[in-house]
Amino acid sequence: MSDQLKDKGFTTRLVHADRILNSPEDGSVHSPVNSSVLFNYPKVEDLVDIFQGKVAGHAYARTSSSSQSALQNIMTHVEGGKASLAFASGMAAISATILSLLEAGDHLIASRFVFGNTATFLQSLKRFGIEVTLVDVTDVEQVKTAKQDNTRMVFLETIANPVTQVADLKAIGEYCDEQQIVYLVDNTMTPASILNSQSVKASLVVNSLTKYIAGHGNALGGIVVEMGNFKWSEFPRIESGFAHLPDFQQVIAQIKKRGLRDMGGCISGQSAHLVSVGVETLALRTTRFSENALALAQYLDAHPKVKKVYYPGLESHPQHQLAKTLFCGFGGILSIDLQDDVDCFAFMNRMKLVLNATHLGDTRTLGIPVAHTIFYDIAQQEREKMGISQNMIRYSIGIEDSKDLIADFEQALA
Ligand SMILES: *Cc1c(COP(=O)(O)O)cnc(C)c1O
Repeated sequence: MSDQLKDKGFTTRLVHADRILNSPEDGSVHSPVNSSVLFNYPKVEDLVDIFQGKVAGHAYARTSSSSQSALQNIMTHVEGGKASLAFASGMAAISATILSLLEAGDHLIASRFVFGNTATFLQSLKRFGIEVTLVDVTDVEQVKTAKQDNTRMVFLETIANPVTQVADLKAIGEYCDEQQIVYLVDNTMTPASILNSQSVKASLVVNSLTKYIAGHGNALGGIVVEMGNFKWSEFPRIESGFAHLPDFQQVIAQIKKRGLRDMGGCISGQSAHLVSVGVETLALRTTRFSENALALAQYLDAHPKVKKVYYPGLESHPQHQLAKTLFCGFGGILSIDLQDDVDCFAFMNRMKLVLNATHLGDTRTLGIPVAHTIFYDIAQQEREKMGISQNMIRYSIGIEDSKDLIADFEQALA
């Protein structure tokens, strides 16, 4: 990290990061959008050196571009990691990372409570001979019980969506460290201003940049960040072609070639730029929506038409104490079960500020009936095992004024 940024606070570092880390030439405070697909080198030897990895540089925008590099510099810095790689979406980052690092015969322990599309992706892994065991990650003992000789990776989300289970992040990180298992943490729900991923010993952090990081619902993106905690030189799946690189670069180089270049889920220059700008207000937004979510959770918890509220900030939440030790704020995801006699769809249609929309991490508050939409692909019996009831509504709380949000719920529940 630059000396100029070292002792500064989170947001100070963030709003000056692009200017200092990337030094745009003409005094711009942002790296400009670069939409070029190809890069020209008057001396062909320079192009050859880039292809051979002897010098850093861009050859073709599916593998890298300057807008992508600028975003990666910022995100490596935000997460406190060593290096990172950006993708077209969170799913592109997750799928490319897992497919680049595991092979047939390997075993993956994954959280039972993951994002719906991640859950179906994990099912697909079985078709390629990768064994997957799903466990309840609120309890490290379940991870230990599931471990086999061929276990290569543990994958989980920090706060699960929509039921808001909080993973026993630190204990699982320590166990993975001790066993030399790759610890892949999807930190979409608790971006760096809420959770310091270093403190839980993550090997790799993946993020859907689309959500809180970009923050405004106008760009898709994903990232994987190498955290400097894992000995990649001892990981049997690193190909020999990458073994000469420094430890943290081995894994990034492998994901870059196998996962990004060969599979093709690259981020556009425009999206990379929008994410780089959006992330600047991350801490302001996380503070605000965490406050809003807590106020709303307390209001709804006391409302007679609401059967149950799921929010880690409530003292009644099963992992409230754990969440207090791990996070700065309890995040923006709040789910509810309405009483059985309340018509869920009619209630949602009465909302005036809260949008009926999929997506989360927007500045606006969004609601979605979970079983009918994002978990519709998953059988009801499976959903119930995940703790998802038929009438559950998930909210992504935005940055509106909290009195206006509460008033909107009040009129819709009346
Ligand atoms: C949305 C989401 C993803 C996928 O991200 P996209 O950018 O939509 O592909 C992955 N993990 C979690 C926890 C998410 O919420």
